Formats: sequence, C-alpha cells, structure tokens
Amino acid sequence: MRDFLYRLTKKNKFLLLTLVIIPVIIIFNQSKERTSDQEVNVYTSRHYDADDLLYEEFTKETGIKVNIISGKGSALIERLKAEGSNSPGDVFFTVDAGNLANFQKQGFLQPIQSEAIKKIVPKELRGENNEWVAVAKRARVIFYNPELVNENEIENINYEDLGDENWKGRIVIRSSSNMYNQSLVSSLISNLGIPQTEKWASNLVSNFARKPQGNDRSQIMAVANQEASIAIANTYYIGIMLSGKGGQDQLNAAKKVKIAFPNQDNRGAHINISGGGVLKYAPNRENAEKFLEFLLSEKAQNHIVNNTFEYPVLETVKPHPLIENFGVFKMDKTSVSDFGKYNPEAVKLMDRVNWQ
Ligand code: FE
Repeated sequence: MRDFLYRLTKKNKFLLLTLVIIPVIIIFNQSKERTSDQEVNVYTSRHYDADDLLYEEFTKETGIKVNIISGKGSALIERLKAEGSNSPGDVFFTVDAGNLANFQKQGFLQPIQSEAIKKIVPKELRGENNEWVAVAKRARVIFYNPELVNENEIENINYEDLGDENWKGRIVIRSSSNMYNQSLVSSLISNLGIPQTEKWASNLVSNFARKPQGNDRSQIMAVANQEASIAIANTYYIGIMLSGKGGQDQLNAAKKVKIAFPNQDNRGAHINISGGGVLKYAPNRENAEKFLEFLLSEKAQNHIVNNTFEYPVLETVKPHPLIENFGVFKMDKTSVSDFGKYNPEAVKLMDRVNWQ
C-alpha cells in the first residue's frame, strides 16, 4: 500500500482525493444524519392522550421519532392486509391477549428477539413464540354492593361459584361478543375443560339479573344502583371511576361498590394484558424492539399504570394508589396465550348456553 501511494503522482493523488476520499466522507456524513431521523411506526387500538408524553420521552432518550397510527382493531387489520409487505407498520399495540393472539394467528407478527424483554416479561404473559408481550396487566374480578351481599357469601369466592343457585337473578356481566369475557371463558376452559366450563356458563347465564348490555362500567353502575348484587368487570375501570375522570355519577357509583378477588385459595384471579408485538414486515424492526423495551422501563411503566390504572408488568413499579388500595392478591398464572388457543371453543360454548 505504501509503495502504491509513493508511486502516485501529484495529479493521481488529487484524483484519489476527489474520487474516493471525498465521496466516502459525504456518504459517512449522510448516514450520520439519517440516524437522527430514525422512526418507529406504531399501529395501536389503544390510544390515550397521556401516551403522547410517553412517546416524546422515548424520542428524547433514543432520537427515534414515534408515528402513531390509531384506530379500531378491525380497521387496523384491514389496513395491514391492504398494505401487505409494503406496510410501514413496526409495532402493533392493543388490549386483551385474545386480540393479540387472533392477530398473531393471521400471520401479522414476527417473534420478538430482545433478551431484555424476555427477561422482564414472564413466560405466561407472552405469545407462544414471543410474537407479543404484555406491557400492563388487568384483572377481571367481582364488584359487589355490600348492601346486597353478605361478607360470608363473597369470602373465598371462586368464578366457579357464580353458577350457584344463591346468585339467581343477582349477576350482571356484558355480552359474549366482548373479548374480555371470551378470554375469561377461555381461561376456564384451559383450567377446567370444556364440559365443566359449559355447565358453569349455563348456570351463570341462568343467574343473570338482566340481558347482557353495556360496557364494564355500566355493570359496576348497575351494582351501585342495586340493579344487581355483583358484576364482573376489569379492575382499571374502578380506578378511572374513582379518579373522577368518568364524571360525578361514576365517582358516586364507584364509592358504593367493593371488590372481591376470586380464586384466592387456588389458582388466583383471572389476569389479562395490554400488549404489543413487532409487525412481520417492520421496516424498523430494531426500533420496534427498542420501543417495546422502553414501554417496559421503570419510567414508562409508572406512566402507564398512573394513566390507565392497570397493573405493572415490571415488579419494581407500584400500581396507582387508587388501585393499590384494593390490596395485594393472588394473580392467576394461566398462560394468556391460552386465551387465543381456546377462543374459538369459548365463543361456541357461550353461544350454546345462550349467553347473549
Ligand atoms: Fe377496557
């Protein structure tokens, strides 16, 4: 090499400089610039205004810009289908393991590689091949009106007990088209098998105080208004209601109900998740994983639980004080990927027992 340079004439050295070295410097500078406009495209059916602050924080830490594409799950699926392998989508983010699993079954996701993520998120809170992971947890529990329910009726209660004669005409829960309920039934199928779950569901339906209607919050309202003794609903709704974010009526109602965590003497209360995965054709795959890693950081977990009233996945983070007040309880460790596995059976079973 030295011989070669030595032999170069002045003119040749000039040519070497202009043709090789200068272009190399230009390309190097351009690639440096490109890293500063890195991005990650997040498809989400779960958009909270407060999340914008979270995304800003991620950009501040990493220099990666976050583009949010939000919409209903079904609309996002249609969009991804239309985009095919040209999709700019990197991350998919939604609620309920049943939704994540159904999405995965359609081939929209690829396995997450990050060891950091796998270390934080326990196996039971991920897809079978790490196609998606939990970012937050929620429990589906019993809300009761202490004016209508005796402590001894509710003590040590199991989901299985909700089919008992004692609860005839006293239970409200939303319809079977709701994924939260489909996932609850799937978890029972996973633990008890189909025949036992079907018998239970049939008895539960015969105990309904009214035809299923409204969302989780309306079930809690019905219990507060004494239209029913108990409701089954997700834990974070009581946080939203008690915070006043849902208005005065909801705040008043929330103060009238209590929570019972089922199955504390055995497998624990039913746990579901909010979570995300990396899209199959992600053009920014590494950024997608960085984004999920960030959502599992202490800072982001604190932000999430304080805005959504869910439970954290990261063990060092505490739930919002309004939720923490309900106390520590045993969480079911049934794999949430089972909710996807048994979803078709659960839907058919609920139909057979006339759960509207
Ligand atoms: Fe919800």
